[in-house]
Amino acid sequence: MSEIDDLKKKVAMACRMLFVAELVDYSGHISVRIPGTDRFLIRGHPVSRCEVTPDDVVTVDRDGKRLDGKWNPPSELPMHIRTYRARDDIQSVAHLHNRMVVVLSMADRPLIPASNPGALFGPGAIPVYQDPALIHTDEQGDAVARTVGKGDAAILRGHGSIVVGQSIEWTFAACVDLEESAARLCLASTLGPVKFYTDDEVARVGKGRRKPSVIQKVWDHYVAKARLAGLMDGLG
Ligand SMILES: [Zn+2]
Repeated sequence: MSEIDDLKKKVAMACRMLFVAELVDYSGHISVRIPGTDRFLIRGHPVSRCEVTPDDVVTVDRDGKRLDGKWNPPSELPMHIRTYRARDDIQSVAHLHNRMVVVLSMADRPLIPASNPGALFGPGAIPVYQDPALIHTDEQGDAVARTVGKGDAAILRGHGSIVVGQSIEWTFAACVDLEESAARLCLASTLGPVKFYTDDEVARVGKGRRKPSVIQKVWDHYVAKARLAGLMDGLG
């Protein structure tokens, strides 16, 4: 299997796994850079997240123009493209419609590490992009990219989130951690004041969560989970 075919398969797998993890519904997507290029792979617009195949993945350039594939790319593609353009160091971008992250943003509560999944994102609050409109233009995409900055994620108020990473496996694992961090914080907040992690605790725990072996463990777990759900047919 060629490198590009392998990446298309991983995009299809990640779409189905994000669906199983309830991090995307009928919207939301994950993309990956073709290594060493300004070309990117992303699921085609009309295909349900729970039945994406490698054949449904399209290739786009740094201007969002489709280079191959049978579908148009998703309408919120500018969020991906403009973030890649701002960050040569990242290989994969995900846009989630994740419930608990959105709930925190609705209450204007910062997402600060207070449990181990949150430590992956480093100390301090994850930045929030305040405009709830969908990201359909380059200008909006640039504004989202500026909100992400040099970090790993940003919250889109009332809408979802964007997560970036060094590989599609990394970004997928970070998506899982972001939502779990928010869910735990929401639950703990109902019990009273929350004891947030110190910067030292975030650094020590975060280092462990960023290990390649841990990233791969999360990926493999969701491959198995999607397979058990009957949603990995034809993808291994
Ligand atoms: Zn969206």
